[in-house]
Amino acid sequence: RRNKLVVANWKMHGSLALCRETINQLNHIVQPGADLIISPPAPYLSELGRLAQQTGIHCCGQDVAAQQNGARTGEWSATMLAELGCHHAIVGHSERRQHHREDNLLIAAKAQACIDAGITPIVCIGETLDERNAGQLEHILGQQLDALLATSGWRQAIIAYEPVWAIGTGKVATPAIAQAAHQFIREYLAKTDADAADEMMLLYGGSVKADNATALFAMPDIDGGLIGSASLEVHSLVRIYQAA
Ligand code: 13P
Repeated sequence: RRNKLVVANWKMHGSLALCRETINQLNHIVQPGADLIISPPAPYLSELGRLAQQTGIHCCGQDVAAQQNGARTGEWSATMLAELGCHHAIVGHSERRQHHREDNLLIAAKAQACIDAGITPIVCIGETLDERNAGQLEHILGQQLDALLATSGWRQAIIAYEPVWAIGTGKVATPAIAQAAHQFIREYLAKTDADAADEMMLLYGGSVKADNATALFAMPDIDGGLIGSASLEVHSLVRIYQAA
């Protein structure tokens, strides 16, 4: 069966001190069967990767360019992340979609760029509250998934379902609501390749905390979580990891 995975997305928070504290405290708790990935802001990736060596904890980019190199000031490529020891990069986070106008096609290109460089994209999808209230959930998720399904490498991706209304709001999806979306996603992928859909890891993100993680991670189609603010508190990250 699928492993569990916890990904800490620090967003634009943290410090070198938090890199050290996080690795020091999580160093000894990583167990087989559940992976732990920390995604700090890009300037900290090198140091975090160095500190995490031999710990079983991996570092991960929060974004990546769709190209492997070029005249693109302020961007970095999947090849560069791979060189730093990252095995993963988050792509298509709703904050990138909102503040940087990233669309499904660009995000699919970024996912493929990761796969071409030998790292795993963690592709974020999810609906806004208006879309959910308008009965558009499956339509929106379907469009987001269709772009990914058009890439040759989609089977190697991890998908994170992050309903926009749950991100940074404290309004976590109930386990049943999250499970229903995850089941829809897995069944949608299965229409193209049932074996791949069964093997793919689907993470839930949006206001995951130490006290709601256990119930979410117990759902059959939820393979772990993408954790924002709670991952900045080392003690709550430890508890969330232990819930996986
Ligand atoms: P919060 O856990 O702070 O709601 O953020 C979720 C998220 O966006 C993770 O990528």
